[in-house]
Amino acid sequence: MTDTLKKYLTTDHSTRIQSLRLSQAWQEGLAHQTLPPAVIRLLGELSAACVLLAGNVKFDGSVVLQVQGSGPVSLMVAECTGGLELRATAHLRDAAADLPEDTGLQALMNPDGKGRFTVMLDPATRGEGAGLYQGIVPLEGESVAHALEYYMKHSEQLDTQLWLAASDQFCAGLLLQRMPSSQHSGSHAAERHTADDDRTWEHCITLADTVSDPELLELPADTLIHRLFWQDDLVSFAPQAVRWHCPCSRERVANMLRTLGRTEIDGILAEQGHVHISCNFCGKPYDFDAVDCAALFAEGMQPPASGSGRLH
Ligand SMILES: [Zn+2]
Repeated sequence: MTDTLKKYLTTDHSTRIQSLRLSQAWQEGLAHQTLPPAVIRLLGELSAACVLLAGNVKFDGSVVLQVQGSGPVSLMVAECTGGLELRATAHLRDAAADLPEDTGLQALMNPDGKGRFTVMLDPATRGEGAGLYQGIVPLEGESVAHALEYYMKHSEQLDTQLWLAASDQFCAGLLLQRMPSSQHSGSHAAERHTADDDRTWEHCITLADTVSDPELLELPADTLIHRLFWQDDLVSFAPQAVRWHCPCSRERVANMLRTLGRTEIDGILAEQGHVHISCNFCGKPYDFDAVDCAALFAEGMQPPASGSGRLH
């Protein structure tokens, strides 16, 4: 398994460590998206962060990280389900094409300082009392990790620190999180961390802080953890597979074309010879030629009232 999330606990169970490195899933995600290197790097960091956070969520649903701003990049979104299915996209304005590779988050997205960073927990089934949880903070910092840490600081989250890196080949990250003290001491009254917990946390931060971007990108998750924490005994959990998944499909596009109606589709065919649709999330192309389009309306489907009115 190459695309995996690896989880560890310190032996006193006070600090959670997670390591993630994606290659195939990330490259699959970029396959139909044409993005400048600076945007690929940021989107990869956002994607890695999203998977690392989704790996901790105890409900059936998705973690969505969204960055919006007025710069050359108007929107970046990463979404990861509890089953670790990831998708991510960036929307560009015209000025984004010539960006230098080292352009930072603020220049890319937040020239007017009004950018927003949003964290959403989206339950798979929105039953009663299971609504969308959403936290929004101003877009601060020059990296996705800084922006997320700013969010963590301003919401009632567990102490969490992230180290993120991405290229067009890999996206990767390391997460440290303090476990709630009541969870590992067995005492509900224990709200405060002990001095030992503090020492463990500081020790882990010090070690994790030595990690470099090339190490994050080039080393398999367990090799990286061994290199950083070789002096420590860690409780290790089985690796979890991560994959790229966008729910778009040819069938969904076909349904959308049917709702446009036959007149509209025939108009596009007359003008362009075929109907070309790209998923506006992952960019995957879907092509329908004249024969495909004829089949859309010949499968017993009733065209909608707004269509041509020709019934089959
Ligand atoms: Zn898609």
